[in-house]
Amino acid sequence: MASPTFNDELQTAGGYHWLLTNEERQHIAEILEIDESNLAHVSHTPINRSRMTCTQCGKRSGLDDVVQSAHELGVHTSAFMINVLVNGLKANGPVHGMDCSRCGERFDGVFSYSFCD
Ligand SMILES: [Zn+2]
Repeated sequence: MASPTFNDELQTAGGYHWLLTNEERQHIAEILEIDESNLAHVSHTPINRSRMTCTQCGKRSGLDDVVQSAHELGVHTSAFMINVLVNGLKANGPVHGMDCSRCGERFDGVFSYSFCD
């Protein structure tokens, strides 16, 4: 299999875990207007699919894109997202589309938080 390898996600039997990069953590704190230290213990997030690469700007899809899109679409309140990020999710999250938070290009398909631990 000659697919490019990235060190930014884990694949488990239950699904995918996107590892949270420092850049993403910072960006998420900005979007949700919280202190980055609130997210210090968040190391990865279960998502229903593998990461994608933005066809426009090359950014890797990340939790920051999930958060920004949900925030802009009004899918989730900031309080809900902060709670999920800090405490984890107890059930599968709603599925929604996602835009690149850097250039606004839409990623293909839909994304959701998956509860797979
Ligand atoms: Zn982009």
